[in-house]
Amino acid sequence: MSLKAMAFIDGTWLYRSRELLFAKLGETNGCEIDYANLPHLFSTQVAKHAETDVDLVRTHYFGTIPASRPGYAPLKQESFYDFLEKTCGYETDIAEVPACGDTHLDDSWVKMALSASLMFNAALPGAFDIAILIGDNLCYEPMLGKVRLYGKRIQLVSAHTTEGALPPVSLVGKSHSLDFPTLFLDEYAENVRLVRERVTRVCKNCGATEETTWAGPEFFCSNCRGKHRLK
Ligand SMILES: [Zn+2]
Repeated sequence: MSLKAMAFIDGTWLYRSRELLFAKLGETNGCEIDYANLPHLFSTQVAKHAETDVDLVRTHYFGTIPASRPGYAPLKQESFYDFLEKTCGYETDIAEVPACGDTHLDDSWVKMALSASLMFNAALPGAFDIAILIGDNLCYEPMLGKVRLYGKRIQLVSAHTTEGALPPVSLVGKSHSLDFPTLFLDEYAENVRLVRERVTRVCKNCGATEETTWAGPEFFCSNCRGKHRLK
C-alpha cells in the first residue's frame, strides 16, 4: 500500500534559498527553479526513506503580495503565482498583506498560513500520511509536534548556508518531530535548476523558424526582436 504525501512550501523561504542554489551552481546571473518538478523530486526521496511507494497528492504554496505598499506593482508576482497554479498544479495560498511598517509581517503571515493549513489537513481523515515541509525554521516545531500526535510523519527540506553550515534557526538537530533524514535543497541543485529544452519555433511576425529555449506563448525571431528594439 502506498503512502500519501502532501508538500507544503514556505514561499518566502524558497525565494531566499535561490541564492544558495546560484552559489552552489556558480551561476552569478541566477537561474530558474523547476517548480513543476520540485515537489516530485522530493517525494521520490521520501519514498526511499519510507521504503514504500509515496503518492504526492497535493502541493501547497504559501506567499504574500504586499499590494498596499506605495509604488509596488504586483503584476509580475501575480503572474508567477498564476504560473504555479495553472502550469505546475500547485494549490496557492496568497495573502494580500496590509502595510503596517513591520517588515517581518510577510514572513510571519506565510508561516502562520502554512502551519494552519498543515494542521487542518492533518486533522482531515485520510488526507495524507507524510507532510513534506519545504522550509526550515525552528518556529515550525510546536506545529510539527501537534501534527505528529495525529500519527503523521514529517519530512523536512532544508538548505545549507553558502558556507555549507546549518542555518542558526534550523530545525535540524533541535527538532523532535522529524521522521526522516533531512533533505537539503542545495544537494539537489542540479535537479532543482530548470533546464529549458531547445526547440524550433515559428516567428509570430514573419513566419521564419528559429531554435530557441523561450517557452512563452508567443515567439518572435531574433531578427524581428532586433527591429522592434530599434523602433
Ligand atoms: Zn520574425
